Amino acid sequence: MVAPIDPFDDLPLRDDLRGLTPYGAPQLDVPVRLNTNENPYPVPDAVADSIEKALRGVIRDLDRYPDRDAVALREDLATYVGHGMTAENIWVGNGSNEVQHHALLAFGGNGRTAMGFSPGYSLHPLLARATGTGWMDGHRTRDFALGPEQAKAQVRVFDPDIVFVCSPNNPTGTRLELETVAAICGETPGVVIVDEAYFEFGREGTRSAVELIQQFPRLLVTRTLSKAFGMAGARVGYLVGRPHAIEYLKLVRLPYHLSSLTQAVARAALAHSSAFLGQVELIKSQRDRLASSLREMGLTVPDSDANFVLFGQFNDAKAVWQFLLDRGVLVRDVGIPGYLRVTAGTPDEVDAFLAAMGQLPDGS
Ligand code: PMP
Repeated sequence: MVAPIDPFDDLPLRDDLRGLTPYGAPQLDVPVRLNTNENPYPVPDAVADSIEKALRGVIRDLDRYPDRDAVALREDLATYVGHGMTAENIWVGNGSNEVQHHALLAFGGNGRTAMGFSPGYSLHPLLARATGTGWMDGHRTRDFALGPEQAKAQVRVFDPDIVFVCSPNNPTGTRLELETVAAICGETPGVVIVDEAYFEFGREGTRSAVELIQQFPRLLVTRTLSKAFGMAGARVGYLVGRPHAIEYLKLVRLPYHLSSLTQAVARAALAHSSAFLGQVELIKSQRDRLASSLREMGLTVPDSDANFVLFGQFNDAKAVWQFLLDRGVLVRDVGIPGYLRVTAGTPDEVDAFLAAMGQLPDGS
């Protein structure tokens, strides 16, 4: 029998995209979903009321385009970020992924290169490729650390146009000390993007790379409302940098990229930042409980400053992933041999995960 001809087969996809798979974790409908590092708590009632009110305030103006530069929201974000930042230091988009995409469009592209330190956030190389930017994988030590000398040496060898670092790092949970960020910034004439999506979950002593922005004009720091603020569904992320960098990002954004609904929701949420930061404390305590319980089981767990922990080492991590799924618990196989990643959920979700882990057969 002749194979049916797929009419899409001869679409002229770019050669450099052929063979790639789209980013994404399985979205399975199971009782305990601890695979995508979301905040497990619903939006608090008081915040939901404010959001509804804010939406009512803009709905009748939907015949008009939104504020193209989202100035009021950027002012609110600057106040939240602190460190003397103003709206001119802030860029905002539909998730921190979008602002990173803007940064790659502006500072990467054809003939340019970006690098990261593996294992890191797997979307960074995909974003690079999608913008025609070459990607180079640096590395961390065996315990997933990255010190200043080690980082500088790799930046010197690769000599990229853009360096990505993630702190705390997804998927390892480990944070970078500011001296490593400063060392990278001092070594490269390129742009340095520090992805701080999980910043608010940092343990005592965690410092933001925003502190270094006055010193290093090519440093960009990205953050999000998807994690600590539990607003992953709203799609709001932002970037902090020097005003000239923000102006360049405006060259590549789509006109009116951030809807007036999104801007209103984000402003209402930011007005309640203390309610969300209360949830963060609960999540951090479950994160610490996960780390200590897994270590008591004899597993290796790198110190985490995020809302998840990496755990291993297993002889067959895929089999462990399936074993947990069969018991209604979804965690993430992040592709590091022998390891899995679990998000800090509610106390009940963490109970369910630990109970399932307690049933793992010996030798897993
Ligand atoms: N950065 C990192 C390191 C992440 O893990 C994630 C979420 N998976 C993001 C950015 C994406 O965040 P957003 O929802 O703001 O696009």
